[in-house]
Amino acid sequence: MPLPPVGLSKEQVLATLRAYKAHDAPWLEGRVMAGVYDPGPAVAEVGKAAYTEFLSENALYPNLYPSLLKLETDTVRSIADWLGGGPQTVGNFTSGGTESILLAVKAARDWARAHKPQVQTPEMVLCITAHPAFHKAAHYLGLKVQITPMNPTTFRADVEAMRQAINENTVLLVGSAPCYSHGVVDPIPEIAALAQEKGVLCHVDACVGGLHLSVMRTLGFSVPAFDLSIPGVTSLSTDLHKYGYAAKNASVILYHSPALRRFALYANARTTGYAVINPTVLSSKSGGPLAGAWATLHFLGLQGYQQIVSEVQRATERLLAGIAAIPELQVLGKPDMCMFAFSSAHLNVFELEDALSSRGWFVQAQFSAGGGPANLHLSVNRSNVPHVEDFLTALQESVAEVKRGGGLDHLESLRQEVAQLLQNPGPDPFTRIAALAGLVPGQMPTGFARINTLLELLPDELVESLLVEYVNSLYR
Ligand SMILES: *Cc1c(COP(=O)(O)O)cnc(C)c1O
Repeated sequence: MPLPPVGLSKEQVLATLRAYKAHDAPWLEGRVMAGVYDPGPAVAEVGKAAYTEFLSENALYPNLYPSLLKLETDTVRSIADWLGGGPQTVGNFTSGGTESILLAVKAARDWARAHKPQVQTPEMVLCITAHPAFHKAAHYLGLKVQITPMNPTTFRADVEAMRQAINENTVLLVGSAPCYSHGVVDPIPEIAALAQEKGVLCHVDACVGGLHLSVMRTLGFSVPAFDLSIPGVTSLSTDLHKYGYAAKNASVILYHSPALRRFALYANARTTGYAVINPTVLSSKSGGPLAGAWATLHFLGLQGYQQIVSEVQRATERLLAGIAAIPELQVLGKPDMCMFAFSSAHLNVFELEDALSSRGWFVQAQFSAGGGPANLHLSVNRSNVPHVEDFLTALQESVAEVKRGGGLDHLESLRQEVAQLLQNPGPDPFTRIAALAGLVPGQMPTGFARINTLLELLPDELVESLLVEYVNSLYR
């Protein structure tokens, strides 16, 4: 759509934007069971008002906007207190988990340059359940990743395998609290003790779970130890735009001391322009996300979060019991909070995902990896709470529908086609794979069962290239 030579009216602009939104997922209706963190209209409104109040203020300039410096130090202090920080703990507000993790990895890399100058290519050791953001950070920052296996029953990191993967180039160990995929907390005290023993750093990725778990703790739930109070934990990331229920983009990175944070900062005074000093990746940045997050935290307070966490945990327990009662489905591991995955020995879970979405329910498909099966993931949030029984009914109907479709047998022909293609990829495998998947370049697909089933059969590197090609065609 070309820019209009003469500007539209405010009404026209807003009407057009709203018309575009009409095709989005119905996330405000509580039927999207992953990737949405919606506290309900009363809380969201306060965050939104605060966000727009600071929309145009620029957090690049704490000198011009001491308000933003105050909001950031306040926010970081409250989060540090919830997450076991001490008087030495420092941190910053960032745009999301990815940025927080990027900073933790940069701090580790540059800490190693100062303290382990013999290391040429620094390495980090992480379980296969760790978030892709660590791989992305390694890719951006020039580190090597050593991936270690999970325990295939509990889906928690295998600490003995992490020990085996440590060498003279290791600078950082990573644990998740919890990992996104299965919602289980890694044995953080053991990972942190191992890091201490080996003289390396230890990052806890509490991006998704940090706030929810710390509130669960105040309610008397049994929660595995995971925070900065554990000896050996040197940094921790936690997102406010997930179970903090703040608007995006909002996360916090915490360091156990200013001496470590120094390695995450960036300064530049060697151009004709203004001297740059950035505690985080972004330079110019809106004050909106920070003010929105501060407002959400302060509007809810501990009691507000306790109310949400109790409701969400009750809903989660009901969902887990409901799924356990469906003989075709199995919950994977013992989830530590309101996120979990379930698989099926007899049904194609990707078809189950489509059957659910045709009924207006959205869950997240996850591929098999590290010895664990393909599965469907749910992250329960407040907006799902009133819909639990309806979801379980839809799930039962969907299981019955997929069963009628013949289970896994009819996938055999697809499997054979893929095997042939892999043996003889030809000059343009992507076009052939896209055709097999029924993908049309530049269009979002309507159903995902066939695509996911196909991707599941392909090697990881090929899937990655395929996704790059596809997204390269999508944004045109
Ligand atoms: C969401 C998530 C991240 C990445 O956070 P973004 O805000 O999407 O950048 C990292 N780790 C875990 C465990 C997560 O769930």
